[in-house]
Amino acid sequence: MNRCTRCILPETFPGIHFDEEGVCQYCRRTPDPEQREAQRARLRAKFEKLAGDVRSQPGYHCLVAWSGGKDSTYTLWLLKEQYGLRVLAFTFDNGFVSPQALKNMRTVAENLNVDHAIVKPSFDVLREVFVASMRPGMYPAKALERASGICNTCMAIAKGIGLRIALEKGIPILAYGWSPGQIPLASAFIRFNSRMLRAMVDTAIAPLEAVVNTRIIEYFPEQHQLADVKVLPYNISPLAFLDYDEETTLHRISALAWERPQDTDPNSTNCLLNSFANLIHVEQMGYHPYVMELASLVREGYMDRQEALKRLGIAPVPEVVAAVEAKLGVPISDK
Ligand SMILES: [Zn+2]
Repeated sequence: MNRCTRCILPETFPGIHFDEEGVCQYCRRTPDPEQREAQRARLRAKFEKLAGDVRSQPGYHCLVAWSGGKDSTYTLWLLKEQYGLRVLAFTFDNGFVSPQALKNMRTVAENLNVDHAIVKPSFDVLREVFVASMRPGMYPAKALERASGICNTCMAIAKGIGLRIALEKGIPILAYGWSPGQIPLASAFIRFNSRMLRAMVDTAIAPLEAVVNTRIIEYFPEQHQLADVKVLPYNISPLAFLDYDEETTLHRISALAWERPQDTDPNSTNCLLNSFANLIHVEQMGYHPYVMELASLVREGYMDRQEALKRLGIAPVPEVVAAVEAKLGVPISDK
């Protein structure tokens, strides 16, 4: 397969074109390292100011979306220990969280001494929305460039739960563990106004409501909360602008007794649904749902090309895929 000679985007990626040197338009457009570092430094300064402003306030300073994976666990440590914020962690349990990830969360929450809320919707609702997310057409093509349909569904519900808790409790910061590559710098420090929040919630709910009607609305902010927002939360992804490297992350969270699950594929450190979702995406779209993220990491110097290609080539574990198919009640594939 033809790939960009600089990053790893393949010829099957939507809208891709290569110039005479075989370099894709995303690589050509990318700002130089000095510009990017200046932008990161600006965001770091803004975040330090914000953390300083909220630190004297009563109640929680920060709500962390915690999947139990390595990056969100590191984010939790960072905000609690480095920035001294009073943190509430919340987890959306999609029914496929690896048992080791659940164990990690219990241990780390105790070791870090943070409050932790787990939201686990009833599985019949989740099964219906996940099965629907496997069908083409649930999400626009643009949304599928960075994540599978199933991942889009999970992220929509997790964000809905987070926003609902933040609005209910008036928490000023909503933090995510997105690492560089998973989120553009321009989106790493953002505060939406209430009109934008309403529009985002409507967009997120619509495809899910089409499948399970009102059974999904409990996991999203209510209309009255959106109509009268007391504290507009900042959406922050600190790993995108603070110094990030995988080795430091793993070192730091190991000290909290976090252990890498052996039952997930190496691209995910918490979710058993992940390799199944990737498999379906590759079959339907012709490219891996992580390729954009890995390509960004290569482009920005966080990962070398060889390593990125290696991660793309990781085959799903057949037993994990079969267990997912059985739990979702979809026909068992022959992979
Ligand atoms: Zn490229």
